[in-house]
Formats: sequence, structure tokens, C-alpha cells
Amino acid sequence: MSTKKLSKEPFLDWVDFIISTEQKVYGVQVHEDKADRFEYAVLQKAEDLRIDYDVTMLPPKKYFQPPVETIVEFGAKDGYKSVYDTEKFALIGVHPYDMAAINQMDKLFSQDNYDTHYMGRRNNATIIACDVVNPSKNVFASSMSTATVKQGFDVLVTDTGDGYVVEAVTDKGQKLLDMAKADEATSKDLDARRSVWKKNEKELNKHALNCKPSDIPKLLEMAYDHPLWEEKAKTCFSCGSCNQVCPTCYCFNVQDSVAWDLTSGNRQREWDGCLLDGFTKVAPGHEFRPKRSSRFRHRLYRKGKYVPGKIDGEIACVGCGRCIDACLPDIANPVTVYNQLLEEFGFNKKTNPQVCLST
Ligand code: SF4
Ligand code: SF4
Repeated sequence: MSTKKLSKEPFLDWVDFIISTEQKVYGVQVHEDKADRFEYAVLQKAEDLRIDYDVTMLPPKKYFQPPVETIVEFGAKDGYKSVYDTEKFALIGVHPYDMAAINQMDKLFSQDNYDTHYMGRRNNATIIACDVVNPSKNVFASSMSTATVKQGFDVLVTDTGDGYVVEAVTDKGQKLLDMAKADEATSKDLDARRSVWKKNEKELNKHALNCKPSDIPKLLEMAYDHPLWEEKAKTCFSCGSCNQVCPTCYCFNVQDSVAWDLTSGNRQREWDGCLLDGFTKVAPGHEFRPKRSSRFRHRLYRKGKYVPGKIDGEIACVGCGRCIDACLPDIANPVTVYNQLLEEFGFNKKTNPQVCLST
């Protein structure tokens, strides 16, 4: 595998080349309706690509787990068949925290019940990740150790100011990079990239967590009956926005629809959210998390305790800050909750700035 250095024009030529070869290419662009926001969308030409973006409104999870997808079709005559997306695609501009979230989803969707729909799309994807140039106003990836990423992508692009250092780490990525008109990166270029990483590991931190991420499960173990959940949830709208924008929320609902003449139908799954009223409603009408406070608490426990139990202790919050942007009453910030709990349990920032609950 190789690492190359491209100046601006050859970089744009390379992106145009990718657009001309891949079946479909999605890249980060200015949002269609909101000029000051960014989104992933079909990339028609290289000059639309904005790898200097701060954060996209929705994470790239929508390409691996679409908001609505048909998973099975059935008919009276033909029986049933699973429906799969087989299209190969490239995704350009994935930030490290979103890559970290995709890496977590890969583990979750491939363990226990292997999810052929998610994993099929994942295997069809070529990911061109890029390091952050402009931090968003609520990012806290430095606190969650996701400001840089070392795996999951095929190519990593780092803007070093005078051009782009581009590294291929898989065969798929190398094939693409071979098509770029570029020289091998020099040791000076690699030093410049290391400086970007060092800076981001420190500075993508608009909300500093006052403990190590690995302390969060232990902290939550102590906090299940804490009054904070009631207090915070008082202003919660149960709108589910914090779930929808989160790159690590993957809950879905499954529903069958049958045609009026009862001869055919399909099974679809669509995004769901644990903050929504009815999320836990089961067949006889019983709802086992009817209170907003229990749903509010569940979201934080899922991210800070339950999912880490399934994926080697990794916290299911990558610090993208999207939930903070999305929450109108401003109560969704996980760092605010964790720091408040640390204070309440006597782990004071001034006396003990980096507590370790596990020692
Ligand atoms: S909980 Fe919030 S900050 Fe953490 S990954 Fe989800 S949206 Fe991003
Ligand atoms: S925490 Fe905020 S974004 Fe989440 S459901 Fe409640 S009001 Fe909506």
C-alpha cells in the first residue's frame, strides 16, 4: 500500500476519476436547502466536494442502514425472497468519529445474528475517510478518542495545508489511488500529517469529558436511580431527534404490508428511536418504558454501558456533537450528563481532573 501527496488540482482530477469509475459516489456537499450546513449526497463533480466541512447533518450510516428499506418481498404464488442492495458505491469525506461509529456498527451487525443487509452494503462500499479541517461547534471527539482513526476505511485523506496526504490501506483503496497523478509522500509530508493528527487529538473538544471514556460504564453503574434522569427529562419532547442524527444509534422497527387483494406484500424496516413514546410497546399494549425519564436514561445507558458490554468496552458515543445541535431543550449532550454525575459522586474536576473510577 502507498501514501501519496496530491496538490489541489490533481486531487480534484482524482475525485473526478473516481466519479467516472464507481457505480455511485456519495460525498460531503453543502446541504441542498441549508447553505450553512453539510450533507452526504450523490457527488456529480469533484468541485462540489467539501472535505473542509465541519459536520454533516446526518451521519453516513444512512448508506449502510437506510431510514427505510424493504428486506423481504412475498407473494401468494412466488413465496418469499430477501431483497438486497448489490450496488457498489464509494463514500468520500467520512470524518474519523463517523468512521469509528461505522467500525462499531460493523461489529454489532456481524455478531450474534449476522445482518446480511447491513453487511452486504458495507462490503460493497469503498470508504475514503478524511481528517477534520474545521471542527464543528459541538464536537468532542478528542474526549472520546475518536479524533483520529486507524482502520475501517480504504483510503485516508489529510489536508496538510499545502495539499493532501492520501494513504491507501486496502487493495480497493490502492487501486483507486494508483489512478491519481501523484508523487510518493515525503517524510516532511508525513510529519505534517502527524501534526494534524496531534492537533485534532487535542482540539476537537468543545465539551471536555472529565473522565476517561472507559470510566463511563462504572459511573453509570452507580447512577441508575439518580434523580438527574427525572430532572433532565422534564423538558424532553420525546422527539427522537437525538437518536435519528446519531451515528451509533441503529435501532429499527420491522413492519409487514400486504396488498389490498392479499396476493403480495413486503417487509420493511425503518429507523426507530429509544426516546420515542411507543418504542417499547409490545403486543398486548404494554409499554415497559412509558416514562420519559426512563427513556432518557436508557439512551445514555445504551451508549455508556450496554453496547460497550458487547464490543469490548467501546463507548457507543463517538463525540460527533450532532445530538447537541439537534436537541431543542438542550438536554441531550452526553458529556453534560456524565460530568454532572461525576460531580454528584464527588469526582471533582478541580481536585481530581482526570478521575479513574476503575482504580
Ligand atoms: S450520542 Fe450524540 S455526540 Fe455521541 S455519537 Fe451520538 S449524536 Fe454523536
Ligand atoms: S433529549 Fe432532546 S432531542 Fe432527544 S428526544 Fe428529548 S428533546 Fe428530543
